[in-house]
Amino acid sequence: ARIVDPGGDTEDRRFEAALRPRKLADFPGQPRVRDQLSLVLEAAKRRAAPPDHVLLSGPPGLGKTSLAMIIAAELEQPIRITSGPAIQHAGDLAAVLSSLAEGEVLFLDEIHRMARPAEEMLYLAMEDFRVDIIVGKGPGATAIPLELPPFTVVGATTRAGLLPAPLRDRFGFTGHLDFYTPEDLAQILTRNATLLGIDATEQGIEEIAGRSRGTPRIANRLLRRVRDYAQVHGSGILDQGAARAALSLFDVDDRGLDRLDRAVLEALCRRFGGGPVGLSTLAVAVGEESDTVETVAEPYLVREGYLVRTPRGRAASPLAWQHLGLTPPVNAVA
Ligand code: ADP
Repeated sequence: ARIVDPGGDTEDRRFEAALRPRKLADFPGQPRVRDQLSLVLEAAKRRAAPPDHVLLSGPPGLGKTSLAMIIAAELEQPIRITSGPAIQHAGDLAAVLSSLAEGEVLFLDEIHRMARPAEEMLYLAMEDFRVDIIVGKGPGATAIPLELPPFTVVGATTRAGLLPAPLRDRFGFTGHLDFYTPEDLAQILTRNATLLGIDATEQGIEEIAGRSRGTPRIANRLLRRVRDYAQVHGSGILDQGAARAALSLFDVDDRGLDRLDRAVLEALCRRFGGGPVGLSTLAVAVGEESDTVETVAEPYLVREGYLVRTPRGRAASPLAWQHLGLTPPVNAVA
């Protein structure tokens, strides 16, 4: 696994439980979503009724699960956690729904990956707080309606565009999470360093924040590696020197690009004159599958403007040339 992978692994989960903020006020960054949610939750509390269902969309590692937990904590309600891929049959969802307590928060991660029949059951449950339990098979099957106490669904998706419109429409509020600024990440890292008992300097924290790709989960992971380095090779203090040395050891450069990202840019600039070049040709040049280049390296390179997708293939931007310390040819495409 890449150290800059925004998806979570086992080690991440072990640390994340201890590091998640518990209150909206302790959740740095995402000011818009925070203000909007704060309003929605406060109004619900005053009405003493569950709020509208909430959809959180955005790339992995930006805090959707954390926000779901905060929503439950702010409402002083328990939270039930499951995910789209875990619900393959309508019966799986019926079991969860029929056991919810009044006001409970149901967190459905990766809601876009839920099976279609379950999705249809969810529409009804979200709108009318009811499920139809199907008894029997074939022409003799009957639907027995089951009333549910009011509850709140918090759905999370990395791909809001993939949600069928009827499902999207049943969320009264949608919050779009965006990548964090280095300043926000520094704030998160400072808090987490304290929680983990790490002695860190401001410059050390800033060094990590600048290389974390706008993603708290990556920032937390880099923090742990730099802490290891400071303990083994340094004075135990996480300072700028330790951060630079550790991140160079793990091949994360000053802009957060890792070995694969740089290999793609190097191939593009040095072997193909900046492109455009087809994806499969580029992938062969870096010794990877096309799919890996496209789904693992490209999103961040495109987002940060290093790489451009053109109808004739991938091309390097002036930023890519600059980052590699190379001079673009006069006829460069992008
Ligand atoms: P997602 O569900 O979007 O993949 P998570 O909520 O699991 O993301 O967050 C991943 C990690 O990043 C967790 O350790 C979490 O504590 C941390 N994190 C995310 N957003 C924030 C934030 N705004 N403040 C502090 N930590 C955050």
